[in-house]
Amino acid sequence: MSLFSGLDQFGLGKLEKVNIFEEETKKTDKSGKPVEQKISEEDLLFDKSYTCPVCDEEFHAKMLRTGKVKLLSVDTDLRPKYQLVDSLKYDALVCPKCGYAALSRFFKFMMPSQAKLIRENISKNFSGLAQTGNIYTYDDAINRHQLALINTVVKKAKASEKAYTCLKMGWLYRGKAESLSKETPDYDKQIKEMAVKEQELLSNAYDGFMSAFSKESFPMCGMDEITVTYLIAELARRIGKYEEASRWISRVLTSREANERIKNKAREIKEMINQQKENA
Ligand SMILES: [Zn+2]
Repeated sequence: MSLFSGLDQFGLGKLEKVNIFEEETKKTDKSGKPVEQKISEEDLLFDKSYTCPVCDEEFHAKMLRTGKVKLLSVDTDLRPKYQLVDSLKYDALVCPKCGYAALSRFFKFMMPSQAKLIRENISKNFSGLAQTGNIYTYDDAINRHQLALINTVVKKAKASEKAYTCLKMGWLYRGKAESLSKETPDYDKQIKEMAVKEQELLSNAYDGFMSAFSKESFPMCGMDEITVTYLIAELARRIGKYEEASRWISRVLTSREANERIKNKAREIKEMINQQKENA
């Protein structure tokens, strides 16, 4: 006996078999098979408008809807990996009119002297931005970050901003490599080239954070002193500077301010450094 048996007395017999909590009926294709409704990268994006602090132009850039994507894991150098989309692709903002570009966290800050430098050294020659599709490919994202990086040099940004931009761009090469299809004809060659680019960018990030560490104040790019110390250690390890990596990681391990979570991560790094030193 179903809860709804007897409904036919009201002329509603067809409804006798419904389930009270049944979800909305699934969409079906032409043959009646259920279609899986997948969320695509495009569904997670929206166009956000910005005003350029250099030329006052209002423009749109693609932005990730916050709270829609799940964090899957974090690499040892703090690169986050999300489900369905690599959010890092959407972090560089580029004004299509004047060529000013920066990571979103630095975009608004602009001194008049810096705007002048950008107008003279970038805007004058900027030939525009290539049209993108509904999502940014890794190459779109890398181009946007490259513009952000050259802008940090032109506007004489702090070492930390240059370093952070290099780090993010390095992570994009890693993401691109991870997403490259194994069927790509010159797969090995491409992977090698991306690894070289990533190393170069991580190496610049390391130099930049080292220099920022003694000159700038914390929090730096949203990170406290312990986190930056940890990051410098891990970047040093990734670029093969094992002695430096050891020194920086001990600072984390002996710090009284560091919590257990970061100390545990630091112990893992120390283990890796020791193994790599042996093999070197
Ligand atoms: Zn502009």
